[in-house]
Amino acid sequence: LAGRDIKTEHTVVKLKNCSIGGGNLFIIAGPCAVEGEEMIYELARLLKDMGVNMLRGGVFKPRTSPYSFQGLQWEGLKILSGAAGSVGLPVVTEVTKIQDVEKVCRYADMLQIGSRNMQNFGLLTEVGRSGFPVLLKRGLSSTIEEWLMAAEYILLEGNGQVVLCERGIRTFELYTRNTFDINAIPALKSLTHLPVIADPSHGTGRSELVAPVSLAAVAAGADGLMVEVHPNPGQALSDGVQSLTPEAMKSLVQKARNLHSMV
Ligand code: PEP
Ligand code: MN
Repeated sequence: LAGRDIKTEHTVVKLKNCSIGGGNLFIIAGPCAVEGEEMIYELARLLKDMGVNMLRGGVFKPRTSPYSFQGLQWEGLKILSGAAGSVGLPVVTEVTKIQDVEKVCRYADMLQIGSRNMQNFGLLTEVGRSGFPVLLKRGLSSTIEEWLMAAEYILLEGNGQVVLCERGIRTFELYTRNTFDINAIPALKSLTHLPVIADPSHGTGRSELVAPVSLAAVAAGADGLMVEVHPNPGQALSDGVQSLTPEAMKSLVQKARNLHSMV
């Protein structure tokens, strides 16, 4: 169902008053995790003013260690939704459990399936049944074929509102957190009609690489970007090393939009 041989025209995923894949560069930004009311309201305002299209923020954090900050959970989701609403931005957040899908849909505009759950087939089926737009991240060590098959589980439930997000894969290289697979972007653009966006934050794990890799993804044909931004990266409770400051994000938004108008 995801193949371009089945459907030749590109899928446009529709959200409140915007869409992904319709020709504009769709930029999603926000903190790795919602850490409190003040930080997310302030950040939402700054991101809206610089022309970001959607707010992101994790509240159920699937951390590698169970001893690391696990997110503010439902309380965080209500705060996130309030912050997005206060500036009129749609919001995406990760859902990690089948039983949470229905309730998360009441607060978010799009459901994120994280890398660690890309092959959680029960969860994929459930988000498929919700009919809600889904942001499907690439699995930690998944091939493009496996990733497209994961999308197929969602499409099979009659939900065609799926966006693929390249977030880097695990390789032998340890200088960066993951290896951002730039090949995946043009490859997917020819294999599938679904929109493809890039997450250079998890794709590199280093803030100084986020802007150049974002621009490479735009040049390669990405329909959008998802970038982690924190008001004070040094103090972030998760992924501070790869988070941009709002100032750095503002400069990236301008460069990415300029470049996009040329490709
Ligand atoms: C995220 O975007 O919040 C996240 C946890 O990323 P990933 O699932 O790609 O590791
Ligand atoms: Mn993160």
